[in-house]
Amino acid sequence: STTKVWNFGAGPAAIPAEVLAKAQAEFLDFNNTGMSVLEISHRSKTFDNLLKKTKNDLRQLLNIPENYKILFMQGGGHTQFAAVVYNLVAAKRTKTGDYSLNPPVDYVITGSWSAKSVAEAKRVYANVNIAADARLSGGGKFGSIPPREEWKLSGPDAAYVYYCDNETINGVEFPYIPDIDPSVPLVCDMSSNILSRKFDVSKFGVIYAGAQKNVGPAGVTIVIVREDLLVDQPKTVVEHSAGSSSMLATVPSMLDYKIMADTDSLYNTPPVFAVYMAGLVFEHLIARGGVQEIEKVNEKKAKLLYDYIDQSKIYQSHIDPKVRSRMNVPFRINPPELEAQFLAGAEALRMYQLKGHRSVGGLRASIYNAMTIEGVTALIDYMKAFEEKHS
Ligand code: PMP
Repeated sequence: STTKVWNFGAGPAAIPAEVLAKAQAEFLDFNNTGMSVLEISHRSKTFDNLLKKTKNDLRQLLNIPENYKILFMQGGGHTQFAAVVYNLVAAKRTKTGDYSLNPPVDYVITGSWSAKSVAEAKRVYANVNIAADARLSGGGKFGSIPPREEWKLSGPDAAYVYYCDNETINGVEFPYIPDIDPSVPLVCDMSSNILSRKFDVSKFGVIYAGAQKNVGPAGVTIVIVREDLLVDQPKTVVEHSAGSSSMLATVPSMLDYKIMADTDSLYNTPPVFAVYMAGLVFEHLIARGGVQEIEKVNEKKAKLLYDYIDQSKIYQSHIDPKVRSRMNVPFRINPPELEAQFLAGAEALRMYQLKGHRSVGGLRASIYNAMTIEGVTALIDYMKAFEEKHS
């Protein structure tokens, strides 16, 4: 966003001003085609080059090993809630050679989004195992991560273990990659913290992320999948799916990672503009020194904000300090009646979208990659002034 406005929105979220300016500058004529990027064919050489460069840049930024495919899919995080079930149950069946197998799928619930992914998994599949649920030890509320030793995983029988790396609504972020049976694929929703820090991709079977927080506009979902999990659906399984009594008899084409990989994400018309914008954000990040540099800035921003909140008399964080998100900072004001006034005062200073998610209330500052230290400092200055006035 422009320097005059501080956008603390959780998603769609701020996009670096330089990226928006570049998109604007080449909006009417992309790469001397005489056409807008909105108008070029997804089958053109121009788009093919764009797609290749975008994938290579992401591969470089996240140090993605060669045995992982990068897919650009549609339907957001919600579609992936279902896609992971279909694809990984199919992969497990293929691996065992038993197409009527209904393996357990393990979930760790640490916030609203992992809870929602469980609800979707249950909608399409029956054998869902809740390995841990942070609400059970949290008095019904999210704000912590159950210790790894307490998770009740299904072991090597599971088709996968699923968790959400950063819970956007609740402000809970994993400070580690969970250790699980290495034969079981680890699946992770990184929608709201991908590209915010370095991590080891090789620990995962599948990583996915909707774009509209740290990557770009809504419309494209990044899926990073290990090659051995890409399986063809046997013709008999596909044809007999309608009459089969087994759960998830086959993978719908648009959700099928193998089809998306084989067609280089061009099975159908991809979200060309969203992919283009993601590419600009990747270029921008590389120019800034990559993920390791932005990680330092992110650490610094989060520390500034939490340190201030922790010593304040009127603001409070309710999240276990060991698992506080560096991306989404929920906080409350005591007394809560002051929140409306706080928001109005923030808007008067052009600090926007600080209201907490409707399901949890309170306030929330989302400070993704595109939020600068200057923006966080401006917020803290305002919080201080507000505190002085009200304590
Ligand atoms: N997972 C996480 C962590 C999210 O923050 C969100 C969206 N806020 C989703 C999934 C759902 O994404 P979408 O709206 O793209 O379906």
